[in-house]
Amino acid sequence: MKRILIIVLATATVLCAFGADVVTSPDGRLAATISIINGHPCYSLTIDGTEVVRPSRLGLRLADGTLGADVKVAARHRDSRDEQWVQPWGEDDTVRNHYNELALDLRERGNGRLLRVVMRVYDDGLGFRYEIPKQAALGEFQIMDELTEVRLAHDAPAWSIPSNRTEYFEGLYERTPLTAKDTVCVPLTVEYEPDLFLALHEANLTDYASLNLTPRRQADGSVTLLAALTPWQSGVKVESRSGMATPWRTITVARTAGHLLLSRLTLNLNEPCRIEDTSWIEPGRYLGIWWSIHKKQNTWEMGATHGATTENVKRYIDFAARHGFAGVLAEGWNPGWAAGEQVTYLKAYPDFDIEAVCRYALDKGVRFIGHMESWGNAALIEREMDDAFAWYSQMGIRAVKTGYVGHLLDGKELAKSQYGIRHYRRVIECAARHHIMIDNHEPAMPTGLQRTWPNLMTQEGVRGQEYNAWSGDGGNPPSHTVTLPFTRGLAGPMDFTPAIFWQGDDVVPGTHPHSTLAKQLGEFVVLYSPLQMAADAIEHYQGQPAFTFIESCPTTWSRTVVPHARIGEYVTVARRERGNGGRWFVGSITNERARTLELPLDFLTPGTTYRAMIYADASEADYERDPYAMEIKQLTVTASDTLTLRLARSGGCAIRIEPIHSSR
Ligand code: CA
Repeated sequence: MKRILIIVLATATVLCAFGADVVTSPDGRLAATISIINGHPCYSLTIDGTEVVRPSRLGLRLADGTLGADVKVAARHRDSRDEQWVQPWGEDDTVRNHYNELALDLRERGNGRLLRVVMRVYDDGLGFRYEIPKQAALGEFQIMDELTEVRLAHDAPAWSIPSNRTEYFEGLYERTPLTAKDTVCVPLTVEYEPDLFLALHEANLTDYASLNLTPRRQADGSVTLLAALTPWQSGVKVESRSGMATPWRTITVARTAGHLLLSRLTLNLNEPCRIEDTSWIEPGRYLGIWWSIHKKQNTWEMGATHGATTENVKRYIDFAARHGFAGVLAEGWNPGWAAGEQVTYLKAYPDFDIEAVCRYALDKGVRFIGHMESWGNAALIEREMDDAFAWYSQMGIRAVKTGYVGHLLDGKELAKSQYGIRHYRRVIECAARHHIMIDNHEPAMPTGLQRTWPNLMTQEGVRGQEYNAWSGDGGNPPSHTVTLPFTRGLAGPMDFTPAIFWQGDDVVPGTHPHSTLAKQLGEFVVLYSPLQMAADAIEHYQGQPAFTFIESCPTTWSRTVVPHARIGEYVTVARRERGNGGRWFVGSITNERARTLELPLDFLTPGTTYRAMIYADASEADYERDPYAMEIKQLTVTASDTLTLRLARSGGCAIRIEPIHSSR
């Protein structure tokens, strides 16, 4: 009794000395504490009573000194919210935004400047950000560094790509201990305990620099992940003025890897939709003149084998119309691809009659998808985008793929610097005014902005399918697409461009998709994108029974579940389509190991009988020996059935489940 009393007293004293303030998740399992230690603001996090984040520093280093040193708490604000919001498109139709919030106004003792720390705690993680209210003591300023840390109580294996050596985020995620890593990009996925997964990221990256994290081993065995913002060439990280808020720094918390995929924390920490009428925003499947160029059968520039000719694009449109695709992309439709050619988005190559093609497409219920490759010339895009989007919109174009191949934007700044973040946002907002959806390649890492700007459909920022056309290292390894959902995928939709049916290695010997055909189908469901490309040339889909899965698969969903998930090994995702059809689509994929997975169909509606079309690896299928061997079979199933999925080495399975009658 005496001992307990002493502990209670000691705890009370510590809390008192540190001036600790606690905010818990709605379910009470997560508790974040903000405290002032030696004048510095710090936060910590316990999960089910265990300290996972030790007291970690908060604050900003400005050009003229630290903001948030020697502070006292001037005011406390508490808030709670429990609301639902509807996604115009996405992996679910409604999202619950349920959190408790604590905001502390921190006043510097010396010069009286004010820094506010806002902490929101959800059942599936937390987000915090800095707000610098308008104040006489602080006008314009430059942020030189964030002092923000995440000090994890112990080292753990984590999945990441290195920040400085991965161009456009197109890297293979590696699993190493945190302490073995150099500075990494976010999201950073940590296998903290066998039953505790953490994903560190940021949300609502607006007029600020992208976050990176630098791990440092501490003497007590903890690991500090220090914020490392992407700089301007000048070395300054952020140019700003008071009356601003930083992006949210987020820690998603999940007891299984599968639950990481179901967290909507990043979206919840973005602002509500700013587009009043979203009826023109149309998710869907698309085809394109793209893979044939990467496979060197066509060219971007005009010439004997030009891809984007009037005739060739019409051929794709015919195929798209027959198979229910919403769009057809053609890269290389506009001048700028041959050496010395002036780039412009305001006229087409002479052998591409864009107005006729757009009319032809509309007549067939398909839309042409525009493409703007800038080679990093962001200024050119900004000069022409208003006129270009107006023209495209007039012709019935609803989506544009933008591209920024080139080391620096405008020859000077990194794409993920504040310079790039400002540019990408101007494009999204301009596109919204013209009712244009954006598919952004070579982007900054996504941070959930599609909640605010749902015309930002999908982005690259991923080592995609194109590496399977020409990469000197043989292409993406079998583990790649079973790693991506838990890493890059946590940031938002990926334009990975799945569904390559023909595995020829005619560009680089040995380079081709290292997967079975059934896995290519499974990836169409697993790798989420509201604009989902069936990336192969149409010749390779012609007459293929497997294509009947692709042509039936939606790209926006009312509900998503994840029955199986092991990062880098295998994953199964089941999604219910929107509307009244009640169909479910399942994708299951594995790494280089064959495996058998039991799939309980308990996500189906009880009392309903369904027809399941199963596209599975045949018994002889093997990604190296026989990637095409597939078995398509039909079964009658109900919610009480369990399917046995047999996945070949780097194999997969895709299932379409449709209700046939209801017993009620
Ligand atoms: Ca690319």
